[in-house]
Amino acid sequence: MSTGPDLIVVGAGAAGLTAATTLAHAGLSVTIIEARDRIGGRIFTLRDPKYGAPVELGAEFIHGLPPETLTLLNQRQVRIREMDGDNWCFIDGKLGTCDFFSEVESILSKMDDRKPDQSFLDFLEECCPSANASPRQQHSREWALGYVSGFNAADPALVGVHWLVQGMRAEEEIEGDRAFRAEHGYADLIDFFQEQLDAAGVSLLQNTIVEEIRWSPGRAEVALLGPEGASVISAPRVLITVPLGVLQAQSGEKGAIRFAPDLPQQKQNAIRNVIMGQAARVVLRFHERFWKDLPSGNKSSKKMDGMSFLFSHDKSFPTWWTTLPEKLPFLVGWAPFRAAEALAGKDKSFVIEQSLNTLHRLLGVSVQELEGLLEHAYFHDWQTDPFSRGAYSYGKVGGDGMSEALARPIDNTLFFAGEATDVSGHNGTVHGAIASGNRAAAEILPATAARKLRAGG
Ligand SMILES: Cc1cc2nc3c(=O)[nH]c(=O)nc-3n(C[C@H](O)[C@H](O)[C@H](O)COP(=O)(O)OP(=O)(O)OC[C@H]3O[C@@H](n4cnc5c(N)ncnc54)[C@H](O)[C@@H]3O)c2cc1C
Repeated sequence: MSTGPDLIVVGAGAAGLTAATTLAHAGLSVTIIEARDRIGGRIFTLRDPKYGAPVELGAEFIHGLPPETLTLLNQRQVRIREMDGDNWCFIDGKLGTCDFFSEVESILSKMDDRKPDQSFLDFLEECCPSANASPRQQHSREWALGYVSGFNAADPALVGVHWLVQGMRAEEEIEGDRAFRAEHGYADLIDFFQEQLDAAGVSLLQNTIVEEIRWSPGRAEVALLGPEGASVISAPRVLITVPLGVLQAQSGEKGAIRFAPDLPQQKQNAIRNVIMGQAARVVLRFHERFWKDLPSGNKSSKKMDGMSFLFSHDKSFPTWWTTLPEKLPFLVGWAPFRAAEALAGKDKSFVIEQSLNTLHRLLGVSVQELEGLLEHAYFHDWQTDPFSRGAYSYGKVGGDGMSEALARPIDNTLFFAGEATDVSGHNGTVHGAIASGNRAAAEILPATAARKLRAGG
């Protein structure tokens, strides 16, 4: 008789924590293996010592009103607050509030998933050719491109229109154009999971890397490298929730998992046909909200005191946001896709320098002055982090059905969850990760119950 758990979960991010706690509450013995010294994965909240405010290094926003996240936060009576304020833009060297959204919307609404799939770039060229475009149409094209690569951390030449349409439809259902934050940031969700792990008696091995999974139908041996060296644990089922970037890593690279025998060809194709997007964010804390009286000059013009987002085509950090409705002296810079690639592997001082250079270009404040105002900067490099290898996934052109193929269990033994495996159109989000954990739990529970029944357990 096996003494191992009923289920091994690889990865303690939102997906793994959801499935592990649900299944443990249903009576399964569950062990989670986590490579990091903390749970949460790409949710990583710090607390700023000066203001006691949450500082997010990974996920920050609750996009819309997703029941997956809100149900869990409600159980802890966590308050959520909507982001409000004005959207500002930097266009042709000038700062002003933005009025391009309806035009971008009208471009995006022309995407049609009943037509053969194409990349967003090809779609754009077909729907709104740049030749003969008026300056205003040209601007709308650029903002649409910026939106697709910024929000999805995606290469417009690779991301598929079918995938984008599915995501937009899913977002509409939850009012995804609104953005919320939990009172103490996403730490509230992680605290909830920690309580659930304790209450359900889930065992958690941190600082432990899964290196290999040797499997046959109904049995898996998982080779680990932990603080005490190498070991093996086995279980009839394993749920793999590591990020897509980790599944794509080459054998021998840190964090990569070898499968013996290899995963079936269909699964390998799916792993290759979804893309791990790149994004970097920097959080800057200043002495004061120095932007509140900008732009300088005309005294009667609107000031940036009420700014929520600042959009631009800057090459380093095109998008910025504030902490509104909390008026704190923090600015968050967002560098997606190519901009993130340029920052990958660079040290923090380089990232800070690039971010201040951008603020200088956008706000017209000298770099020297900005350096004097800066108190502290927070940054995490998700691109070179061996346990994420990117920010979040997106669907490639021609990749219909790939999330489903990524999610599909193998021989009732290997199960898959994680944001990239979400099949409801919410890839790349926390609620998508939770939804995938719920889906995997629903697959595993009947399989395990039947086995226990056969064994008389
Ligand atoms: C910069 C950034 C900003 C984001 N902003 C938002 C946002 O505003 N709103 C939003 O909804 N989403 C956002 N996201 C996306 C969101 O964070 C993710 O979709 C979600 O957290 C993924 O959860 P997961 O469980 O699928 O994966 P993860 O959280 O990555 O969990 C997987 C776990 O597996 C572990 N692991 C990896 N390899 C191994 C191994 N070999 N052995 C053992 N363990 C291993 C990892 O350490 C990790 O803990 C953002 C992500 C990033 C990076």
